[in-house]
Amino acid sequence: MTPRRAREAIQEARYTRPAVASPPEALAHAQLEWDTPLYRMAVAQFDQAVPVAGIPDDIAERLRYPERSTIVSIPVRMDTGRRVVFPGYRVQHSSIIGPTKGGIRYDANVTLGECAALAMWMTWKCALLRLPYGGAKGGVRCDPRSLSIGELERLTRRFTSELLPVIGPKEDIPAPDMATNEQTMAWMMDTYSMQRGFAVPEIVTGKPISIGGSVFRHEATGAGVVMVASRACDRLGLSLAEQRCVVQGFGNVGGIASQELHDRGASVTAVSDVSGGLHSEDGLDIPSLLEYVREHGSLEGCAAGRRLTNEELLETECDILVLAAREDQITEDNAPRIHARMIVEGANGPTSLEADGVLWEREIPVLPDILTNAGGVTVSYFEWVQDLGRIFWTRDEIRAKLELMLSDAFDRVWDLAEEHTVPLRTGALVAGIREVSDALEARGIFP
Ligand code: NAD
Repeated sequence: MTPRRAREAIQEARYTRPAVASPPEALAHAQLEWDTPLYRMAVAQFDQAVPVAGIPDDIAERLRYPERSTIVSIPVRMDTGRRVVFPGYRVQHSSIIGPTKGGIRYDANVTLGECAALAMWMTWKCALLRLPYGGAKGGVRCDPRSLSIGELERLTRRFTSELLPVIGPKEDIPAPDMATNEQTMAWMMDTYSMQRGFAVPEIVTGKPISIGGSVFRHEATGAGVVMVASRACDRLGLSLAEQRCVVQGFGNVGGIASQELHDRGASVTAVSDVSGGLHSEDGLDIPSLLEYVREHGSLEGCAAGRRLTNEELLETECDILVLAAREDQITEDNAPRIHARMIVEGANGPTSLEADGVLWEREIPVLPDILTNAGGVTVSYFEWVQDLGRIFWTRDEIRAKLELMLSDAFDRVWDLAEEHTVPLRTGALVAGIREVSDALEARGIFP
């Protein structure tokens, strides 16, 4: 496929549904509850990859939809004594290969459609890494920064209670995502365990080490992002230590990725969070910025470099641009103004379909989210295995196993992209989709 044809395919995928013989009552004709721009983007990416993956039509049609979507309402007693009801979601996309797995996010933009898109990406990500999981995603629509610790705890415990019928160590295993962390997972694990009458550490991953969490889980996503970027540099004949990097998002993924880049000798010239960014051509002092954020909660008010907006940060000239904040950051609008030699997706869905087309034409490689941020779910898998076996590995063992699995996935993606002359994202999707399709073909579509 030429770059021009790939761009046309991306445009077509957005506006036309593939011809699938389905009766009028089929989902293809319905107004779907999860039909939102992000879900459409996930499906359009899937539709673009299917012809390259070469999977049967009926299998493709089944995989276009999540298996199960749960909506709950969560009454929370606020510190004022007033009760507020929050909407919560959990979408399970595919349980063909094993239990579903995916994060829980607290954010003002959480919707069923956002969870459906993210759950679908989790399926391809787990399959690409050859983890025995399908994808899920969930969250609560709220403004987490306006909630006290007590309110967050009550919200988490009630949300977990509402999800009891659909989660479990063999059914669906939550993990942290935007604005949730080890503490959130500890509350979820405790709430679930209280219902069962004994400790069930394997119900969540990303929990504190004291209750069965894994060493290196906290750092896994950000460190994995840099492992993949380093592998790409090797393939392109570049040295990671000589690269100038810009990182959007300075939370778990972006903060750790910045630290890893800094530790490996690369120069991080700009970083940002929701409050805006900082830039210094000589390279920022990442350890002291992380310390600042630990103390103040964000980069707001920090004077360690020239202040810039997130829009300016994305267009800053650099070698490697790491996107580690949220979805939809590079669009058709700003893609022509990106001045990076390589884009590395730490966040989920940060590059729109149209932007993908522009970047492909400009020959700027995009290391796609489902490969690049897979370090988190891979070490989550190690955590679950350790909990089930009640045996624990060392940090060095985990880091080495992670590097092996990410490198193996990277090589398969790179080779597929070269073989079919398609973007790395298509290569990654094709690798994941083929694994799931083979499993579904072997099992058959029930009944
Ligand atoms: P986080 O809440 O720890 O950090 C998010 C960061 O992005 C914060 O610094 C926040 O201020 C910043 N941010 C939010 N909105 C922004 C905006 N509009 N512009 C610039 N910065 C903004 O979350 P996280 O766990 O680091 O997750 C970040 C992304 O990585 C999400 O897309 C998430 O789904 C994805 N991800 C996370 C993990 C994980 O293990 N934590 C694993 C895979 C993927």
